Amino acid sequence: MQSLLLNTIGSLRVETTSEPVPKTGEVLLQVSHCAVCRTDAKIWKYGHRDLVLPRIPGHEICGRVSGSGKRYVVWPGTACGKCAQCVSGAENLCRDMRIIGFHEDGGFAEFTAVPEKSLIAVPEDLPGYLACMTEPMACAVNGLEQVGAGEGDRVLIFGAGPVGLMLALAVRSMGGIPFIREVNPRRIEQVKRFLDRAEIRVAAEASELEFDRAVNAAPDAATVTQGFSRLKPGGVFCLFSGLIQDAPAPVSTLNRLHYRQLRLVGAYGCTRLQMVKALGILADHQDILALLIQDRISLDRVPAVLPKLLAGESLKYIIEMDSTGPMTRNG
Ligand SMILES: [Zn+2]
Ligand SMILES: [Zn+2]
Repeated sequence: MQSLLLNTIGSLRVETTSEPVPKTGEVLLQVSHCAVCRTDAKIWKYGHRDLVLPRIPGHEICGRVSGSGKRYVVWPGTACGKCAQCVSGAENLCRDMRIIGFHEDGGFAEFTAVPEKSLIAVPEDLPGYLACMTEPMACAVNGLEQVGAGEGDRVLIFGAGPVGLMLALAVRSMGGIPFIREVNPRRIEQVKRFLDRAEIRVAAEASELEFDRAVNAAPDAATVTQGFSRLKPGGVFCLFSGLIQDAPAPVSTLNRLHYRQLRLVGAYGCTRLQMVKALGILADHQDILALLIQDRISLDRVPAVLPKLLAGESLKYIIEMDSTGPMTRNG
């Protein structure tokens, strides 16, 4: 089969590899679509804590079970199912977690072998090029669940990249009021139609407006300081995106936590149940989500788009392995 193989850091090439053989409990999935995540670009360039080489990346997968033809998206984790975190329903925190596209081969290929229990059926009217965005939307759902965002809450999101916009859309679909803070005016221009359609407001750099919740979908440590300064008393900040540079928190920022009784929570990955919830959000907002797609591309074009993803210049690239889904091209 054709696959994109990451042999060493920085070297991702289309190669002919043998079809994966499913182990006990696994099924062979014929990949129809796999979205390219900024994390894929990061592991290509820098490696990753959870990466084992050589590897076929790709964790935002939609495909058909070979033989049956039914369409599924894939929860990209394999958890032990027995530890306290797994039993409590937070299987994304399992210490024995293995992640498809990091520890196991993923969806940048014609076929991938995945645990049968990780499959989630795709609603009939949801095309594969949208369904493959279930995992990032599920991560957004996890972030919002960690901050306890609910009906009527004003939520400030830092970063208007695809995941920041999915966070905002998820806030809207949960009955909250999303605001986006983005430092790059060109990006705001690029996503204007999405913001208008989803009724997401752009937050000014400084204003009197205070927020119930804040989430960073940008790796700049300044977002944490800014987030704290704009939260109402009792507000919650979610460290959703990992930070890239050392940033000692000023005492004034930490004291804000104290005097305003703020809370800081983390979020990483998503659970299978959050994938189910995310699929529902995707199915309800198909036209809006389509605006997040930069282009639908073939496998061999992926290496060329990774630098654009790293530079934060583009929206979502979707790898299209076949053309049996409805064809509409956006962006
Ligand atoms: Zn991802
Ligand atoms: Zn576990």
